[in-house]
Amino acid sequence: VPLVLTQFLDRAVALYGDKEAIITDSRKFTYSQLNERVNRISRGLRDLGVQKGDRVAYLAPNSMEMLEGFYGVFQVGAIMVPLNIRLKPDDYCFILNHSESKILFVDQELYHLILPVKDKLETVEKIIVHYKENDTAETGYDNWLEEHSAEPFDREELDEHDVCSLLYTSGTTGNPKGVMLTHRNNYIHALSTMHHLRVSDEDTLLHVLPMFHVNGWGSPFYYTANGATQVCLRKTTPETIFHALENHGVTVMHMAPTVLNALLQYYEQNIPSIEQKVRVVIAGSAPPPAFVTRVEKELGWEFLQVYGMTESSPLSTVSSVRSHLKKLPMKEQYKMKAKAGVPMIGCEVKVVNDMGEEVGHNGRQIGEVVTRSNGVMKGYWKNEEATMEAIRGGWLHTGDMATVDEYGNIDIVDRKKDVIISGGENISSIEVEGVLYEHPAVLEAAVIAVPHEKWGETPHAFVVLHENAKVSEKDMIAFSREKLAHFKAITGVTFVDELPKTASGKIQKVHLRNDYWEATG
Ligand code: ATP
Ligand code: MG
Repeated sequence: VPLVLTQFLDRAVALYGDKEAIITDSRKFTYSQLNERVNRISRGLRDLGVQKGDRVAYLAPNSMEMLEGFYGVFQVGAIMVPLNIRLKPDDYCFILNHSESKILFVDQELYHLILPVKDKLETVEKIIVHYKENDTAETGYDNWLEEHSAEPFDREELDEHDVCSLLYTSGTTGNPKGVMLTHRNNYIHALSTMHHLRVSDEDTLLHVLPMFHVNGWGSPFYYTANGATQVCLRKTTPETIFHALENHGVTVMHMAPTVLNALLQYYEQNIPSIEQKVRVVIAGSAPPPAFVTRVEKELGWEFLQVYGMTESSPLSTVSSVRSHLKKLPMKEQYKMKAKAGVPMIGCEVKVVNDMGEEVGHNGRQIGEVVTRSNGVMKGYWKNEEATMEAIRGGWLHTGDMATVDEYGNIDIVDRKKDVIISGGENISSIEVEGVLYEHPAVLEAAVIAVPHEKWGETPHAFVVLHENAKVSEKDMIAFSREKLAHFKAITGVTFVDELPKTASGKIQKVHLRNDYWEATG
């Protein structure tokens, strides 16, 4: 049997047809109802002439329309191109033309981002606007759905190596690249992840990560396959999240550390006295170690760190305190959870030096993370050169630097591009940020390299303080010197009101570098 993602929906419909599948801000759907809507979408797409391999783009926040679109698109054998909702009209123009998308589904509230470039879209044949109260001149989604039958759909035959999505990377370090993921990539990634997260039909997932980003994109598959319930909110703020925890019995959330930070802040200030059933919260993107202890001790939720990238579907490792290590002091266990952890089932992950040799398992030697798995992409869309650069000898070169400890836990040190080289020593910006987060006045921190006459480069911090908190640059520097080897200590601080972030909540150090250069001339 080819491993095709629609099988996950089939399983849910067969075993959990009447169970709540999706809860949105205002509506609820069972798996059977979801399936019917999916069939309507596929019929509608086929009527529009969408064929196997065609690209169908989505510009929408987390929503029913986005989720059901996955399977609706797959049934006709087409490829989904989810678009980051925080881009500019020109970016959409670029991606839609670059991906040669034929159909564009767009949320009514985001339509104004497409309108200015509508005439420049070279391949888009039809725009369909989500939501009933559609006041644009385009086809309205709900009416369009109703025009098509919900009867079982005659699916396009697919091979598991067929591409199911073109996901553009976060663009944290530069221009986003279109990552081609296949049905097999996502299928096997889902099997492995559902095991590590222990997903079951008793789970209710609250989608916090945006579904247009690979993490939010991949999770519906393993929650659907297990008949879990998924909650989609158009906006996730600490208020709406805590509200959903209480009202929908949420058990699992995946989120960026910056969102987790906001949640912790809100909790500490308001301590909402709510009944909630969260069992685990999952974060990638370098969560500061201080968060792990706060989540587990204050909120009583299990914390899992994961590591991955769009190019590997995304996850390759998961933090792990194996049963024989549970005798270690709690402090040691928390430290272990603050690492990216061990390879997930189905993934080979190595940390190698410039000669391609594995570094010692001693927590000291640094190398690049390389991975080989069924999750590794087919390649970058229309970019052979970048593909050959990323996948060499079957291994995906991640551009992330890491160490490995005596237990085999991988600890991400930094992106190659973000490492600070000071007096010939490599400094991890992530390590320095981790220390700054221990300062009671610090809400958010990001560290970049700045030029230095004597040392070449030194660490410079961008810091957002808590409301009403005060601390001087001198004191921040002294604090970092107390906690870190002196060569790793920051040499300057820029206090800011907010840090530039991607839509999935990642801090964009490229912009900080530009800001620094502009400020210093
Ligand atoms: P772009 O490639 O467009 O610059 P991006 O690399 O941020 O953007 P993603 O694929 O969303 O795009 O992110 C993957 C990257 O996120 C990894 O390569 C790594 O640098 C970082 N990352 C993910 N998980 C972790 C983690 N647990 N710890 C540290 N860094 C992480
Ligand atoms: Mg990347």
